Amino acid sequence: MESIYKSDVVIVGSGISGLTVAISLYPRKVTLVTKRKLGEMSSSAWAQGGIAAAVSEEDSPQKHFEDTIKVSAGLSDENSVKEITEKAVSVVNFLEKIGVIFDREKGELSLSKEAAHSQRRVLKVNGDQSGKFIVEKLINYARKLGHITFVENVSIDHITKNNNNECTGVIGHIHQDQIVDNIVFFQAPNVILATGGIGSIYAYTTNPRDVYGEGISLAATAGAELVDLEFVQFHPTALDIGVDPNPLLTEAIRGEGATLVDENNNRFMKKIHALSDLAPRDIVSRAIHDLKMQGHSTFLDCRKFNSNTFKKLFPTADKYLKNANINVEKELIPIIPAAHYHMGGTKVNMDGMTSINGLWACGETSSTGAHGANRLASNSLLEAFVYAIRIARKINSLPIKNYAIRSINIKNYLPKEKTISKVRAKKYIWQLRSTMNKFVGVERSDKTLNNAFVEFDKIEREAKNLSAKLKDMLLVSRLITFAAKLRKESRGTHYRTDFPNMNTNYNQRKVLNINDLNSFLSEKEYDKKVVNE
Ligand SMILES: Cc1cc2nc3c(=O)[nH]c(=O)nc-3n(C[C@H](O)[C@H](O)[C@H](O)COP(=O)(O)OP(=O)(O)OC[C@H]3O[C@@H](n4cnc5c(N)ncnc54)[C@H](O)[C@@H]3O)c2cc1C
Repeated sequence: MESIYKSDVVIVGSGISGLTVAISLYPRKVTLVTKRKLGEMSSSAWAQGGIAAAVSEEDSPQKHFEDTIKVSAGLSDENSVKEITEKAVSVVNFLEKIGVIFDREKGELSLSKEAAHSQRRVLKVNGDQSGKFIVEKLINYARKLGHITFVENVSIDHITKNNNNECTGVIGHIHQDQIVDNIVFFQAPNVILATGGIGSIYAYTTNPRDVYGEGISLAATAGAELVDLEFVQFHPTALDIGVDPNPLLTEAIRGEGATLVDENNNRFMKKIHALSDLAPRDIVSRAIHDLKMQGHSTFLDCRKFNSNTFKKLFPTADKYLKNANINVEKELIPIIPAAHYHMGGTKVNMDGMTSINGLWACGETSSTGAHGANRLASNSLLEAFVYAIRIARKINSLPIKNYAIRSINIKNYLPKEKTISKVRAKKYIWQLRSTMNKFVGVERSDKTLNNAFVEFDKIEREAKNLSAKLKDMLLVSRLITFAAKLRKESRGTHYRTDFPNMNTNYNQRKVLNINDLNSFLSEKEYDKKVVNE
């Protein structure tokens, strides 16, 4: 069965970026397609800490700009950083207008302190439930406006283009049933990818299971330029109790005085960085990783909190800890670094446009340059809002294109062979995620990256007919590993044990596309190296 929809703008994804761009395109008629129910399984709904904005008297967009630049390790795009830090207050105003109620104390906005921020600057909603409440308000507001056609439970698998490198639409399938020939074609001259990050290609991640880089796979396959792929941020305090994904314990807990300790109650961060437990995330994650490699255990120590205060401040973390039977007043909390945020993605300009005409991207799947080699905590929601609004403004300035409905040949979009069963795919997916953690994780080297490539080939060979999910995950994993191999230095979240220092030869953002990866793979250099070592 094939269904065709015609639309001027199609948005893929219903996290904060997808919903915001849809709202901001009002009154232009748009279609929003999303894999599950609106907002479901998005990182946005799981966001805890909140949104960074210089709203206090002591703070300023300039200070926010400087903190962001400092953390980004010389790779951020200053225009982009300037844009997000200057627009932060207008984003807060927009959110209040649609009904978001930020936490206040005695009438004043209650601001959290997170890693590497020089000021208390993070606005939150109901403690650590910012994402949940913001997404709810966005959905309610979007539904009321009347210009958005919502298509739920459709997963997008392809971007279509014409010979002029212009995007002509997207093709997907109905997600809930397993009938792969239930194909839907959205014909549209403007497609906006808002599909989120990549966390679930790693064994340890804070991201929802659905978040495994589909946007990057779609854009890469269509030939779009990608950038900064090697930079994956690991959050240092994910709960380590064998639950997948790993529940996140927000940095704001450390902002309120919790500390990091090893099994001997040793506050190891004190010796490593002047900001101690609130050092930038890459530094804390690496310290924890190194301790674990030496056989130590690592914990978040929240014993200074009274359990009622903890519950009031951090209801989500409190729920996770209660489920794990951990008593915050008495017990240490086991933690591990987990893949959390991807600075890299599909390269976009200041208007959110990719290198393909009519293809736009915003939110975590895009890379605007606002984060460089490392993201300042709580800047991602901010960036998602600012660029979603920018895309909408740009598209709204363009005329609506008139074109005839075009049929597609459904056979071209069906898998050529029967794909492997879900059960078998699960096994290989786990193998792939473990490979990424082991070889392309907090620390990498040429040797581990070569090993990763050999493992990817093995998974592909053994799995034979890959499921769509496995195919996407493999492509995204290979792209990230390839980018990590090309950057022969350490910077921000990209730490190479074989090149432990920053090198000014790598002061530029690394742009690549799928052809670069394919020519690298065809040479199989990594294979020879692994065999010879
Ligand atoms: C636990 C956690 C806590 C966080 N806390 C914070 C925080 O406090 N502050 C902050 O700034 N950032 C935080 N982040 C990061 C931030 O939440 C994300 O970067 C941001 O929400 C990403 O928004 P998005 O709209 O780009 O993607 P998402 O919110 O992930 O939404 C992606 C959407 O795309 C859909 N989708 C994906 N692929 C397809 C497809 N092929 N077809 C159709 N639909 C598709 C998904 O179903 C989903 O609706 C946190 C992240 C996590 C995981």
